[in-house]
Amino acid sequence: MQRKQKGSETIKVVFRVRPLNSKEKQDGREICTIAHENQGLIEIRNPSPEGGGGEVSKTFAFDAVFSESSSQRQIYGVSAAPVVQSVLEGYNGTVFCYGQTGAGKVSLKFVVSLFFLCSYVPYKFQTHTMEGVNEPSELRGIIPNTFEHIFDHIALNGSKDKYLVRASYFEIYNEEIRDLLSSKPQISLELKESPDSGVYVKDLTSTVVKSVEEIDNVLQKGKKNRIVGATLMNAGSSRSHSVFSIVVECCSSDEQGEHIRVGKLNLVDLAGSERQSKTGATGERLKEATKINLSLSALGNVISALVDGKSQHIPYRDSKLTRILQDSLGGNTKTVMCANAGPADYNYDESLSTLRYANRAK
Ligand code: ADP
Ligand code: MG
Repeated sequence: MQRKQKGSETIKVVFRVRPLNSKEKQDGREICTIAHENQGLIEIRNPSPEGGGGEVSKTFAFDAVFSESSSQRQIYGVSAAPVVQSVLEGYNGTVFCYGQTGAGKVSLKFVVSLFFLCSYVPYKFQTHTMEGVNEPSELRGIIPNTFEHIFDHIALNGSKDKYLVRASYFEIYNEEIRDLLSSKPQISLELKESPDSGVYVKDLTSTVVKSVEEIDNVLQKGKKNRIVGATLMNAGSSRSHSVFSIVVECCSSDEQGEHIRVGKLNLVDLAGSERQSKTGATGERLKEATKINLSLSALGNVISALVDGKSQHIPYRDSKLTRILQDSLGGNTKTVMCANAGPADYNYDESLSTLRYANRAK
């Protein structure tokens, strides 16, 4: 398979296929999406090809692919670690998690009861690749591994250099920005632009953190504030994009004086990429889904324009997400897109569209 010429080596796309879950195994689901780790290929087989001509299979190449045998640490090492390292050296960087909401199809009866139940259902908006499971530590995802990476680095270099780490956490829901660390997270914040600081979110809380424990407390506080909308696909699915930003300032001195390096890392959990037709959304939900799709496609356009390298115009202004991330996408920044898909046959359409989206980004 031919690799596309890259305009930028700084955008990396990795693809992860999760294992069948117990329900899928119980239901005897066939696997249609397979990660060939050694070749860096994802193969997807159409479970119902038209014309009875047998299975039609397609393959897509990525910078790295991960199957169920890949460990969280291995994924961190290949995907986020180089970005975090360059942030510690004073560059900006972004890690995205992309994919459809983790759960499978839902029966109509369940859909109806969902509307009545959704205020009682305990919302789950954790993302396996981004956050993982806290214990055992092998199951921790990109975010906790990043925290460790940053504070290990500071412990190692903190005697000669001075560090200041600040964290902020917000979500974009219906193209409105909400501060997840504020005492009033329901208030929508404005985007501003200044010649000095570029595009920024006005009045966004920024908390100084001095340890893994402190930054984790910030994350937990923000998660509690996260607005979660129920779609028909998964009561716990997040319908918002969340951005956890970490700014690392490092002050070092030598014979020539003091040097300050500032790097910013954005850890972005994108809203579920499933199309609204499948979720059967109407009214407010449909409006929500349209906005989600709009910002995902705006992000796709920005990334593919950056990768293409020939575009004069990078359409950052098309969504709040891409405007905010403008200083951390392209140029001398590093970006990783971690695309995720389920392996089962009934996820075929969504997995294929995730593959196509991710493929455009490389
Ligand atoms: P999403 O955030 O995309 O909606 P989740 O990350 O919550 O989906 O995943 C849905 C379910 O699948 C969760 O129960 C999660 O623990 C499980 N899961 C996801 N990825 C993996 C994986 N690589 N290995 C094992 N379980 C996984
Ligand atoms: Mg999630």
